[in-house]
Amino acid sequence: MQSYDAIVIGAGVIGSSVAYHLARLGAGKVLVLDRSQIGSGTSTQSSGILRTHYSVIENVELAKRSWSVFNDFAGYLGDEEASAGLVKCGYLICAPEGPKLEPLRAALAGQVAMGIRVDLIDQAQASALLPIAQFDDAVLMGYEPEAGFADAYLVATGFARAARRQGVKIMEGVNVERLLMDGGRVVGVETSQGTFHSNTVISTQNIWAGDIERWTGVPTPVKAERHAVLALEGPEAYSFQMPVFKDLGSPGMLYCRSYGGNQMLVSEGTVGETLAVPDNEQGDISMDYVVEVGEQVAERFPSFGEAGLASSWTGVYDVTPDWNPVLGRLPDVPGLVVGYGFSGHGFKLSPGVGLVLAQEALGLPTDVSLAPYAHERFRSGNLLTGRYGLGAVS
Ligand SMILES: Cc1cc2nc3c(=O)[nH]c(=O)nc-3n(C[C@H](O)[C@H](O)[C@H](O)COP(=O)(O)OP(=O)(O)OC[C@H]3O[C@@H](n4cnc5c(N)ncnc54)[C@H](O)[C@@H]3O)c2cc1C
Repeated sequence: MQSYDAIVIGAGVIGSSVAYHLARLGAGKVLVLDRSQIGSGTSTQSSGILRTHYSVIENVELAKRSWSVFNDFAGYLGDEEASAGLVKCGYLICAPEGPKLEPLRAALAGQVAMGIRVDLIDQAQASALLPIAQFDDAVLMGYEPEAGFADAYLVATGFARAARRQGVKIMEGVNVERLLMDGGRVVGVETSQGTFHSNTVISTQNIWAGDIERWTGVPTPVKAERHAVLALEGPEAYSFQMPVFKDLGSPGMLYCRSYGGNQMLVSEGTVGETLAVPDNEQGDISMDYVVEVGEQVAERFPSFGEAGLASSWTGVYDVTPDWNPVLGRLPDVPGLVVGYGFSGHGFKLSPGVGLVLAQEALGLPTDVSLAPYAHERFRSGNLLTGRYGLGAVS
């Protein structure tokens, strides 16, 4: 049996980040196991939006630290060829009169209190930033210039490559079948390619985190929820210079961004379709659904009443009851650290989460407290539910 100082299960954007940070912190021999390939889980399906806007203040801190990594990904990794595919176009969020107004006001104030630049802008300024949209109903708008979108696959493979350069071993096509336990603590993993020993195992399995419950008996409050993403081609371009846009006034709390510099990527920020079995295969998108989203888009972007559907795909979120992740040790299972339940907003947190999970696994103080993200919160009822209600804006 081969021995390691730490084993990471899953090589998505979170697991790859954990592996890189373990190596950076001098963890010793590190092994990453993925049943598929680096970044080929739900990370490849990400819309890639990066912002620090959150109504949950703990997330603002993690997102802020993560943004500084995305903003200089090559420098952070010490790999001049690394790229996050960052498009730094800013993030614009708006609310009309109604229930989302005060939550938006409070969230913007929270960002400012954390030292983040957020401009409160009027309709004319919003139109200058995003001339293809109309803002007649908007009464509060915030613009975050240090934001945009990037490519989660590039980031996962960038972290993985940097980890490998520091000696981390990454094995693809290896399914972890169970945890090995001795005296009530984790001592390794049994896989489709044999057993590997370690007293420290970090699970970053996303929608497949239910494995933890099967292996340990500790409930895993996560469900797999499918969401649809559309790429629309309108008569006017949604260019790379135009900001990501979050529309709290639309029924689906739409988010939109440039796709390829011309088309619009759009998706709803509400609850999706729960899957009976975790699976990131493509699902069907009905024409009724396309029309429903298209009508909401046309309300905000009038010329998109003429838009055509260029492409569409589905992706699956690992959703917890409060739409926020579980990060840290499972007290009932010594030796196991988990990071799952990112509920559709984990990419923008991935550098910061990778660092703090690696610190936790090594018994170091964490740069950001993991206490609010503890699994225990589902027992205590001390949930991290955001002011916007359930949804990935959190
Ligand atoms: C449609 C969509 C849009 C999104 N948009 C955004 C966005 O705009 N901004 C944002 O911040 N976030 C967004 N997200 C969320 C973000 O992409 C995810 O939170 C993040 O990519 C999750 O990374 P991960 O490493 O946890 O999961 P994954 O990439 O799914 O990786 C988990 C890995 O674990 C492996 N694995 C699982 N079980 C086992 C096992 N037993 N043995 C071996 N390997 C195993 C899998 O093969 C997989 O590779 C979006 C997600 C989706 C689906």
